[in-house]
Amino acid sequence: MTTTHTVTDLQSALSAERTSGARMTASPARIGFVPTMGALHDGHISLIQQALSACDITVASIFVNPTQFDDPHDLAAYPRDLHSDLGKLERAGCHLAFIPKVEEIYPPGVEIPVYEFGNLEQILEGAVRPGHFKGVGQVVARLLDIVQPDELFMGQKDYQQYLIVKKLVEEILKMKTQVVMCAIVREPDGLAMSSRNVRLTPQQRKDAVVLSRTLFWIKEQVGQETPEVIKQKARERLNAAASITAIDYIEIADAQTLDSLNARIGRPMVVLGAIRMGDVRLIDNVMVNKL
Ligand code: AMP
Repeated sequence: MTTTHTVTDLQSALSAERTSGARMTASPARIGFVPTMGALHDGHISLIQQALSACDITVASIFVNPTQFDDPHDLAAYPRDLHSDLGKLERAGCHLAFIPKVEEIYPPGVEIPVYEFGNLEQILEGAVRPGHFKGVGQVVARLLDIVQPDELFMGQKDYQQYLIVKKLVEEILKMKTQVVMCAIVREPDGLAMSSRNVRLTPQQRKDAVVLSRTLFWIKEQVGQETPEVIKQKARERLNAAASITAIDYIEIADAQTLDSLNARIGRPMVVLGAIRMGDVRLIDNVMVNKL
């Protein structure tokens, strides 16, 4: 694996990979890209594995993007373990790691565009974390411009982010890049893997499973009672776990628009939840009728 820190080095490593003997085939090498913020776990590695099986060259970036954090404390507390991350990428078989400094992504004096996503950026995560998706759109557009991938691999774990990025690529930037959604990788008890899980105390970690259990419970309830009643009962379940200090949202939503569904059940849906355990925020979701 080649590790690069600057745009110039990444791009010359990419063209070296493209023209290396091993990749000289009749058709041009396909580039798969997995953007991450590091503190890698098996969820991230599953994205790398999907990129490796679909593409000829797999690029992973590790960049804790400051513009998508609305809370400076969250940014400062975000787990970082570059040494271990590089080992995991190498063992997974990733070809190129891109680990830029902030100045490389946001060069001083250069204006990096921000994009509009309408209602999709205002609701759910966007309502709780104002400006978050502006930052996501900004960094993903910049990284896509640098890497120019054929396929971009995004986790369902951040489902709203996946929809934002899909809109960015297909409708706003009108790029040919294919946005691929990858399934959520879970711990044996059902907790969605997340870089933030390492910050949970043993008691919080034990209680954290209630989030995924509640979302899967909602999935079973859909159609049996009204969404309002189901969501109220779900809140009661979550509130029964002592470590949960706040419920940011529990929603049964249209899988494409993320608009809250009140009665129109029967179309592709997603059940989304976000909770807080002290200063750690956890999100998760479950598809009801797959798109
Ligand atoms: P992050 O480092 O949190 O920005 O995540 C980088 C990518 O990994 C995003 O596309 C996430 O949705 C994805 N991801 C994070 N956790 C998981 C998981 N448990 N399963 C699958 N993908 C994940």
